[in-house]
Amino acid sequence: MLNKIFARLEAIYPEMVEIRRDLHMHPELSFEEVRTPKFIADYLQNLGLEVRTGVGERGVVGKLVGGKPGKTVAIRADFDALPINEQTDAPYKSKVPGVMHACGHDAHTSIALGMAKALSEVKDEIEGNIVFIHQHAEEMEPGGAIAMIEDGCLEGVDAIFAPHMENYIPVGKLAYRSGYILAASDRFEIEVIGEGGHGAFPHDTKDAVLMGSQLVCNLQQIVSRRTDPLKPAVLSIGSIHSGEASNVIADRATIKGTVRVFDEDVRDRIEQMIEDITASTCQAVGGSYNYVYKRGYPATWNHPNETNLLLEAAQKVVAKEDLVEIPPNMGGEDFSYFLQKVPGSYVFIGSANEEIGAIYPYHHPKFDIDERSLLIAAKVLSSTALHYLSKD
Ligand code: MN
Repeated sequence: MLNKIFARLEAIYPEMVEIRRDLHMHPELSFEEVRTPKFIADYLQNLGLEVRTGVGERGVVGKLVGGKPGKTVAIRADFDALPINEQTDAPYKSKVPGVMHACGHDAHTSIALGMAKALSEVKDEIEGNIVFIHQHAEEMEPGGAIAMIEDGCLEGVDAIFAPHMENYIPVGKLAYRSGYILAASDRFEIEVIGEGGHGAFPHDTKDAVLMGSQLVCNLQQIVSRRTDPLKPAVLSIGSIHSGEASNVIADRATIKGTVRVFDEDVRDRIEQMIEDITASTCQAVGGSYNYVYKRGYPATWNHPNETNLLLEAAQKVVAKEDLVEIPPNMGGEDFSYFLQKVPGSYVFIGSANEEIGAIYPYHHPKFDIDERSLLIAAKVLSSTALHYLSKD
């Protein structure tokens, strides 16, 4: 059956390219998607899938019910674009000024639709179900994933897989990792509050510049002294603002920073330690503080069994040496929420090709891909879905 599906995907490939280019010309920002989910829903409906629209507000879920009973496997494809002004000369360049598919979500959508078409043509032979989860708003917190999950998109789903285009890797290769592959990304803001006054009379003030400076230094002990060195963490302070004049003691200082971490327990501890250190630092000078910690997406953790299964299935498409194990990356993704609910794996699909100028990384205004990666991804994920369904 796999060879039949591969042959169908090869036949559908020109249509996949056409879809990707059409979406590329008509990108929509996160939480503003209208045309894209309508296009997806119409396409899936025409294939005869069970389609739910407006899932978690803008998502689309298509269910392919196989001819024989079995498990249910999901493929997730995100479909939002970025506020970037495209700078390529491609004939399918964005027609929307300031908006661009610079993260390959047009490709992810086309991959999932191509799969839905090819697999629906052999659905009587499929043991189990394949659910296509088309997600809005990956690029902007709180993201579409969490709303779609709350709206039931994972009901009955046993495992989930997702592709992501990757221009750090040439077309024809895949990059995988079992365990943590992407980090959690959080932000914090602290306002320290003292009492201002004349620079010549410090004893009548509570110096916010001193408190803020000490705080920046004290926060550095969190990663260096108080988290497990075998569990990666980054705490960076990117901004500090206080005071106006050389002879005036400032009453406030604002500090902004970011935290990147993989393990949830380390994340909880860091959030608390920042507050503890802020409280004691301010107390020593007699001041007070306001503290806000804003959580972004959690870290993306690929389940080892499902990752192995994907690697086995991928070898029906690419050679073993084209499967590249990569270290974790400090970027973030809301696919992490799906993987907190059901096992699965997130895989990078090599899409770079120097000869056609597909060398710029995602979120770059000249980002483009080698479109042969669409076919490779559709084959790998179809193979993975069927391999998963066939396993006891
Ligand atoms: Mn992306």
